Amino acid sequence: MTLFNFSKWGRKSKSADRLRKYGFSPAVLNAFDDFIARARDRELYQANPRYWAGQLGLGERETLSVIVAATVEGLLDLNWQVACPICKYHGRVATSLGGVGQFHGCENCDHDFEAYLDEGIFVTVTVKDDLRRLSPGRRDDATFRALVDARHGLVTALAMINTPAFNDLLGHQILPEGQSLGVRRLAVFFSDLRGSTAFYLKLGDTEAYRRVCEHFKILFEAAARHDGAAVKTMGDGVMGVFANPRDAVRALVDSVAGLAALNQRAGFADEDRLALKIGLHVGPCILVTLNGRLDYFGETVNIAARLSALAEGDDVIMSHTLLDDPDACALVEDAGQLLPLTAKLRGLPDEFELHRLVIA
Ligand SMILES: [Zn+2]
Repeated sequence: MTLFNFSKWGRKSKSADRLRKYGFSPAVLNAFDDFIARARDRELYQANPRYWAGQLGLGERETLSVIVAATVEGLLDLNWQVACPICKYHGRVATSLGGVGQFHGCENCDHDFEAYLDEGIFVTVTVKDDLRRLSPGRRDDATFRALVDARHGLVTALAMINTPAFNDLLGHQILPEGQSLGVRRLAVFFSDLRGSTAFYLKLGDTEAYRRVCEHFKILFEAAARHDGAAVKTMGDGVMGVFANPRDAVRALVDSVAGLAALNQRAGFADEDRLALKIGLHVGPCILVTLNGRLDYFGETVNIAARLSALAEGDDVIMSHTLLDDPDACALVEDAGQLLPLTAKLRGLPDEFELHRLVIA
């Protein structure tokens, strides 16, 4: 039985064959093939993924996942570009993150500027000849691109990097050793499991580890569901990042609820209950490559890690930077009880204001 019917174009689509293994639904694959077949050349050259999302009838993150898979399959080129903050002129296309760089001089207006992963650096996509051959005379339409960008806004490099598909499939798009790219504002969380030492003693390594993995899955899926990314695990802990602090709060509240459900399923009660100790901070940081994969570094990351050590369980220790964001602040007030916290953290000024959110 054939699952897909592409007789509409009198040919079997190459792309659907190659993308099927990534688990996309037939509807998604059909939409992709249909769009590639009907689009004008200018819609397929240095194209804005948000415009594609509209054409495909998909959400932004799902569209980015399709783009990542198609890039891996050699059907598309993923372009990293920089936009001048003054004249909006788009600089040369880099084919990898390592080719972008932080400092730029605009070729159009001579303005010198720094580009950040969440401001200035953005992604576009171009079909490769293997998928559809574009006419060099018709594909490059700067006026059309400017209209699309004005209407839809750009997809930042950070949004692309935070797509789970990017992490899984294009993790090798790393930065050269010693090179970093900045993020202006990132919400970073660190979590740890309360009482995991006793937990391992009681259950034995194998069973305890199985439950710890279940808990990783809860955190990873919650981050992905709320437009963030779990970057890595450290021992029984997880580090995750979000472009928007509001999404971080949503994901962490979901994670605490997920852990409560795990406790119930597993019959963990009272002092055996697993509880998340979380630290959350918002600020600038840098993206680097460490041990062959992308990772975040900087003071914001260090502070988030230290905050998690102050948590007691089912709570989030957060800095005032989080409450400065009105959306995040409103969510925090709904999520549980917010208590002021006085603590001296190594390397931090005395007046560093902290809050403890006890999640109801
Ligand atoms: Zn410029």
